[in-house]
Amino acid sequence: MANPLYDMLFGRHAGQTAPFLYLADGSALSYDAFLRLTAQYAHSFRDAGLAPGDRLAAQVEKSPQALAVYAACVQAGIVFLPLNTGYTADELAYFVTDSGARLLLCDSAKADALAPIAKSAGAQLMTLNADGSGSLPETARDKPENFETTPRSADDLAAFLYTSGTTGRSKGAMLTQTNLLSNAEVLVDYWGFTEKDVLLHALPIFHTHGLFVATNVILLVGASMIFLPKFDQDKVIEALPRATSMMGVPTFYTRLLDDPRFDRALTGHMRLFISGSAPLLAETHVAFEERTGHRILERYGMTETNMSTSNPYVGERRAGTVGFPLPGVDLKITDPDTGKTLPQGEIGLIEVRGPNVFKGYWNMPEKTAEELRSDGFFITGDLGRIDDQGYVHIVGRDKDLIISGGYNIYPKEIELLLDEQPGVLESAVVGVPHPDFGETVVGFLVAQKGETPDLDAIAEAAATSLARFKHPRKLIMLDELPRNTMGKVQKNILRADYADLFK
Ligand code: ATP
Ligand code: MG
Repeated sequence: MANPLYDMLFGRHAGQTAPFLYLADGSALSYDAFLRLTAQYAHSFRDAGLAPGDRLAAQVEKSPQALAVYAACVQAGIVFLPLNTGYTADELAYFVTDSGARLLLCDSAKADALAPIAKSAGAQLMTLNADGSGSLPETARDKPENFETTPRSADDLAAFLYTSGTTGRSKGAMLTQTNLLSNAEVLVDYWGFTEKDVLLHALPIFHTHGLFVATNVILLVGASMIFLPKFDQDKVIEALPRATSMMGVPTFYTRLLDDPRFDRALTGHMRLFISGSAPLLAETHVAFEERTGHRILERYGMTETNMSTSNPYVGERRAGTVGFPLPGVDLKITDPDTGKTLPQGEIGLIEVRGPNVFKGYWNMPEKTAEELRSDGFFITGDLGRIDDQGYVHIVGRDKDLIISGGYNIYPKEIELLLDEQPGVLESAVVGVPHPDFGETVVGFLVAQKGETPDLDAIAEAAATSLARFKHPRKLIMLDELPRNTMGKVQKNILRADYADLFK
């Protein structure tokens, strides 16, 4: 095929009047209208001088037009580089310069601040606003509504996606057409998506979850999405009766559970709820089933690998696990020091290999060499184990491992215990510098609404169930845990804020 990703996700829907997106204003956008807009944008990019393989960086609000930018890049062979809308101008300078983007697309409101950055990086600047206005739509308006798709091979780059920056500076993951397409194909099959699905989409589209997992799956089967600009509880509850499936981060589900309107009657018709991007508490999984009768399907992936494991669609969805390696994905647990595969049941580094695994980090050959083995296995940096029935459990990140007095401490083990204590909603355990032990354990707790957990009793409970070296040396109450837009707990912030606790 001439351009496998375009042909499979987009091209085959040409002329289809079936709805692709249901929008917040009550209107619908058909596949045909979307693809005509896509072609016009592809002309605009080509006329602006972008050649196949060039990068286009886009920091734009979620809109159908923003999705058409992605589609147009695929059609014209341009490498699409979406950026978190929360990044400041200073942060953006790094991404635009690092990626060597030829064009930066942003909201008109940010154009003045970003113009000097684009200029010094040698990139052109165009605008696209949340309401679909801006200089890009203006240049595109008079362009032809069809575009001769640029030939690409399966191994050509389709996107640069920067990692979330949870553990340090974001890295640009180079993703090929095959990486994206193979994963979408597997997920459609594994999760039973068909053209009849209507996916409730309230995720951002600058991240792999909302962009590649959700959108590509829907495109591949020609289904539709209720495309909400963001997660708004009232809007989600209002839209649910029209949806068949939903993908979300754990915070979506905990917020819905806080709402008494979210019940069996509202969700009885739903086919599937999927969760990922951050750990779903087993407690949330159980509460969700009690309330709705549905078991959330949890899966695990990352920017560099797309999705790697998933709980089954048919079969037991096990709380606190991320299920099995997806078809075509090899997964092993290795010793962090020797790289050797560990016996079943032991905790080690999760490594994955498959057509989903990225080509490497842009501009970071050393980091790529450290994490991507020559035999194709990628060292994810996540710690996990495989239980006796093959379910993968994530124990945390390698970088969050606490080493105290020479002992390895897995925060998750302590967090599970803290979460169970009366009045505790959730917790985060980190290591902070300690003069005697190198590092020591600190537990951060968030109380359930209206509760005041008894810290002495919790310390006591930890002391009776955990070996001494694992006891939190201090327990600290917080109003909430620091989280990024994907609902990931930012332990680096906790570590930095409390670095002097024992100094
Ligand atoms: P950075 O690599 O820049 O530090 P990041 O790893 O948070 O950021 P992403 O690629 O967005 O960036 O996130 C992938 C990570 O999210 C995984 O490595 C894993 O730690 C976490 N994750 C994703 N899904 C799950 C899940 N179901 N359970 C637990 N953790 C998950
Ligand atoms: Mg990462």
